[in-house]
Amino acid sequence: RVYRCWSVDTQSEELKLSDWFLPSASKNLTTTNWSAPVVWDGTYNERILENYYANHKITVGLTVFAVGRYLERYLRRFIASADKHFMVGQKVIIYVLTDDFSHMPWIQLSPLHTMKVFEIKRERRWQDVSMMRMKTISEHVVNHIQYEVDFLFCMDVDQIFLRKYGLETLGESVAQLHAYWYNANPMEVPYERSQLSEAYIPIGQGDFYYHAAVFGGTPIQVLNIARECFKGIMIDKRNNIEAVWHDESHLNKYFFLHKPTKLLSPEYCWDFDRKRNPDIKSVKLYWAIKNYKYVRAT
Ligand code: UDP
Ligand code: MN
Repeated sequence: RVYRCWSVDTQSEELKLSDWFLPSASKNLTTTNWSAPVVWDGTYNERILENYYANHKITVGLTVFAVGRYLERYLRRFIASADKHFMVGQKVIIYVLTDDFSHMPWIQLSPLHTMKVFEIKRERRWQDVSMMRMKTISEHVVNHIQYEVDFLFCMDVDQIFLRKYGLETLGESVAQLHAYWYNANPMEVPYERSQLSEAYIPIGQGDFYYHAAVFGGTPIQVLNIARECFKGIMIDKRNNIEAVWHDESHLNKYFFLHKPTKLLSPEYCWDFDRKRNPDIKSVKLYWAIKNYKYVRAT
């Protein structure tokens, strides 16, 4: 396996493990050891992609959940910024899942973008709101999304699009490198380490730590992802255990067992609270500011 840090410094093991932010001379990893591309700014040719898709018309779906205070806090900016930057020039359907129809913001979308809103019931604990998304996504893919789109993304609502988020991100199954852990050794990342959980990944194994705020692929692949994750979550519930990072732990287990065909660099889900860093050249989507106490209050 090629960790880009190892090509920079082969001397000091300790430095390599602890130093997340590498000198600018380092080269970002652009291919995994199973030959999946890692998409960074500058690794793709927009013109070629646009020419290709001009003759292969597609529709891209985007699911987003806005339950409780997340609705008034984040949904408008998420959708308004998606309208501006997500798959511009392509047909897009944004699927909003919310517990409160009456507070849906009115947002004028551009001509190729449409929105479908569905009402869901609110789970009591925020962890369950987050985890139960996997069940709801599977149901909606089975019932209608599979007939409506060619590719589907599933995203957290507490983020904002900043630049063009385009065709370069499409793939069979797409995983997002986590902004905190993208160049960490897998030994150090917060996988679930209890063997009692379905999300368990043994120390020394694993490829990358993926962020559950963004995943995607073809509808059938997304269905597999969501179903498997939900299965793991429910088995854990029966065994009275909850994985350390909830649905994210199960997603990491899934992508450990079934390697994603495309990885997105942290430019596709960046946290501006992180130090400036030469790896990150062009942020496309970033984390919104979050008052955890406020948004998670019931
Ligand atoms: N979510 C929601 N209401 C809640 C909890 C979660 O709508 O009470 C949705 C929302 O889309 C959110 C996602 O589930 O972005 C994941 O939760 P959160 O963003 O709080 O998790 P974190 O990113 O902090 O791990
Ligand atoms: Mn989030």
